[in-house]
This record gives sequence, C-alpha cells and structure tokens, in this order.
Amino acid sequence: SGTPLAGRVAVVTGASSGIGEATALRLAGLGAKVALMARRGDRLDEVEDRVRADGGTALALPTDVTDRAAVLAAADRVTEELGRADLVFANAGVQLISPITDLATADWDAQIDLNVKGVMNTIQAFVPSLEAAAAEGRSADLIMTSSIAAVRILEGFQVYSATKAYVAQLTRLLRTELGRKGIRVGVVEPGMVDTELPDHVTDPAASKLMADLIERIDVLSSEDVAETVAFMSAVPKHVNLTEITILPTEQV
Ligand code: NDP
Repeated sequence: SGTPLAGRVAVVTGASSGIGEATALRLAGLGAKVALMARRGDRLDEVEDRVRADGGTALALPTDVTDRAAVLAAADRVTEELGRADLVFANAGVQLISPITDLATADWDAQIDLNVKGVMNTIQAFVPSLEAAAAEGRSADLIMTSSIAAVRILEGFQVYSATKAYVAQLTRLLRTELGRKGIRVGVVEPGMVDTELPDHVTDPAASKLMADLIERIDVLSSEDVAETVAFMSAVPKHVNLTEITILPTEQV
C-alpha cells in the first residue's frame, strides 16, 4: 500500500530542519501522524503546514529537549491530541567541534546536554507509550541518530564523537530489555549530510573542513536519511534493522 505507516503516531525531535524535518515529512507522507519537536516554533509551524497541505496530520510542539519537564509535557500533548506514540525518532543533536586544548567547555556541555541527556529525556517521556503499543501487538520503534563519527577517529571531534558512540552503544543495550517486549530499537549512522549542522560550529578550521567536503563530494541529502528511517519503521514487525550506516559514496 502507499501508506505503510497509516495509523501510526510518530514523534520526531529536531524536526525544524535537516534530517528531522525531512523525516517528519516522509513519515507523514507514508501515512503517520507526526508530532514535531525542536525549539524554533516558526519553523515547526511551516513543517506542520506542509504536512497538512498534503492531507496529513501534524502537531508542532516547540520544545527544548534538554528540559526534561518540557519533554514530559510534550509527550502528554502527543497522547491527548494524536494518540499514543509508537514511532519515536530521537534525532535532535548538535556538533560543536574544536581542538581539546581550546577548552571550549560551553560547547562540551551543550553537546552532552543535547546529544546524550536530550536523548535520555526523550526515552523517559516516550518509552511508556512504546511499551503500551507493543503490548497491544502493534509495531513500536525507537530510532536514534548517531553518526559515522561514533566509530571514526577525527581530530577535534572528541566530545561529539563520544556522544554519538554513546547513542550507538545505547541502541545495543536497550535492545536487551526492549526487544523481548516487542519494541524495535535502531540507530542510523550518517556520514556527511548537507544540513544546518556545520553552521553552529564556532571553530573556523573545523567548519572549513566540513564546507570543503560539501564542496568536493556529492554529500547526502536529508531526504536520503529520511528514506532510511522510513524503511526501518515500515518493515514487518518481527524485523529490527538495528544499525544502518549511510555514507555518501565518495566519502571514504
Ligand atoms: P540541523 O542543525 O539541521 O538539525 C538539528 C535539529 O536539532 C534542529 O531541528 C534543531 O532545531 C534541533 N535542536 C537543536 N537543539 C535542540 C534542543 N535543545 N531541543 C530540541 N531540538 C533541538 O542538523 P542535522 O539535521 O544534520 O542534525 C540532525 C542529527 O543528525 C543530529 O543528531 C546530528 O548530530 C546528526 N548527524 C548529522 C550529520 C550531518 O552531516 N549533517 C552526520 C551524522 C549525524 P532548533 O534549533 O529549532 O531547536
């Protein structure tokens, strides 16, 4: 069928741009109702409008996912307005790379707060919904965004890479408990995707490195990653695609 995700309620964090925005649009296009979370409410409203214009259902929920109480409140609104979430894409993240000797402690904290604690806040808020969906015999997915940086040794990436290695290992660990309850846990590990991610990098050498790569090779689009997440969610219930690495063909 053209709507393999009909009847599903999806939550996407980082839905205001890049991979999250593209994934929210794709999941909605496949029939899911989508809850959109990020800080920029104006951008979420635009995504919501696009989904609705296409005949879908979307709910913009401006939320800072580093704020645990705010994520819990957003989860309540998802349940009230869309129904119980059964597909959660914990994707919001930030990459602030710099030499360790710069001691950019505010950037270290920002990455840990969002890429690690933001993911845990999302898990806290939505695992009960996933558990309930699975108990009813429905598909239930927790999908997270890691990065190829989780496994590569890249100068300047130390804190970012560690947060993404955390997410990849978390996926494997969560499966031990959630798999037997019928909840699929998966992680997508992209290489270079053309998004707003490099715009936040304060270190000029590091941001030049990324700009050069985007210049030199045909990098991934957010839609490429969105398609992967959609595929992971739409396979039969007994199939768990656990870890998918997606790289631009020319990125070695
Ligand atoms: P973007 O910068 O376009 O997207 C990041 C998203 O996270 C935005 O929607 C942003 O929205 C949201 N966000 C940031 N801070 C918060 C917060 N405190 N609370 C809620 N949402 C927040 O970049 P990408 O799409 O590339 O990034 C998405 C994920 O992909 C990240 O986890 C990133 O690490 C990962 N990734 C990206 C790669 C790439 O090459 N681009 C490669 C590998 C992984 P807002 O500012 O409105 O809050």
